[in-house]
Amino acid sequence: MSEQKKNPLFEEAQQYIPGGVNSPVRAFRAVGMDPLFIARGEGSKIYDTDGNGYIDYVMSWGPNLLGHGDARILSAVRDAVGNGLTFGAPTTRETELAKLICECHPAIEKVRLVSSGTEACMSAIRLARGATGKDKVIKFRGNYHGHSDGLLVKAGSGLLTESVPDSAGVPKGYAENTLLADYNSEASVEALFRANDDIAAIIVEPVAANMGVVPPKDGFLPFLRDICTTHGTLLIFDEVITGFRLALGGASEYYGVTPDLVTLGKVVGGGMPLAAYGGRAELMDFIAPTGPVYQAGTLSGNPIATAAGLAQLTVLKEHPELYGALEQKARVLEEAYKDLANATGLPLQVNRAGSLLSVFFTDRPVENYEDAQTCDTDRFARYFRHMLKEGIYLAPSQFEAIFVSAVHSDEELQKTADAIRSFRDDD
Ligand SMILES: *Cc1c(COP(=O)(O)O)cnc(C)c1O
Repeated sequence: MSEQKKNPLFEEAQQYIPGGVNSPVRAFRAVGMDPLFIARGEGSKIYDTDGNGYIDYVMSWGPNLLGHGDARILSAVRDAVGNGLTFGAPTTRETELAKLICECHPAIEKVRLVSSGTEACMSAIRLARGATGKDKVIKFRGNYHGHSDGLLVKAGSGLLTESVPDSAGVPKGYAENTLLADYNSEASVEALFRANDDIAAIIVEPVAANMGVVPPKDGFLPFLRDICTTHGTLLIFDEVITGFRLALGGASEYYGVTPDLVTLGKVVGGGMPLAAYGGRAELMDFIAPTGPVYQAGTLSGNPIATAAGLAQLTVLKEHPELYGALEQKARVLEEAYKDLANATGLPLQVNRAGSLLSVFFTDRPVENYEDAQTCDTDRFARYFRHMLKEGIYLAPSQFEAIFVSAVHSDEELQKTADAIRSFRDDD
């Protein structure tokens, strides 16, 4: 195995690709080793270029809810490929997929297909501004909505209203229209509404899953619904992770709260670059060509991507029992973390919502970004390397989710649980 060895493939990649990766977290920087290069995936497992197999809980960061290389998805893709890759003209599969999404999600009457979650969130915000005529947007510290300029703002240690870009290259002016609130804090949202009268939208991950998994406290999502309705502000659920994962109707169904707009990604594309944003028909009709809000895409609704997405969603719709099974599987891991804490006294928290879960190495319950920041990330790195040695591939960062899939078998979950329970932090 490649632990803490230099990986020559990574050395070469770094000569031609910034940092050797096409998305930063893949570089394994937070866990002190070189990344594995993956040659193939099958079911719940991935195999690196040396042929080592690992039980995978990253699942491409969420899309592979049915595991790697599901036969039904691959077959749909193969059929689609035979007819050509892209036309830039309407296809009936786009309508089929859009119809299925509308049937499944309680908040979606019309939906626009795009190519990434970033694009979906960026476009939903533009739509919210266009539809309300207001400029400001509330986002929560530690929530991630893709890398568009106005949304790359999460934390300034100072005032509640201080909006500092997280990335170089984001003009301060962009960030100024992004107001920051604390996840699970009603008071922080109320304060922003007292100080601002031109708030177009609140965008929120209904289960935060990009600072580790942080579920909403009871009442938090209904509170957001109410305060938005009161102020003529649109509520956007970023369901790029939760959509089709917590339930067919995503977090909106799971928690019984209906937002005005929804963004989807990851699971909706079945492993291909496809994402979407949708909502009430009257709002969606603000989008060009029917309305004044412009948004377009050369490869939007791509025939191969829609084939993959449609195949995955069709399986989910035909097998709603999968959701209960997914939750049961995640519970096995949740219990193993609790056993570890009881047996060793290691300070840790385990948060779970449906098939999403995280362990946090801290003694403080994690309800927001500040809590998450108290984690011992060095301990996480040692735990990550322990799990990898045991043949378990986890997200290489404290601040990501464990993605359980429908194909993780009882035996694999037990093996994972044993590996969790056998972690001893001797450093
Ligand atoms: C992954 C993610 C995005 C961005 O999606 P990309 O397809 O990576 O652009 C947006 N929001 C949430 C909640 C995500 O987890």
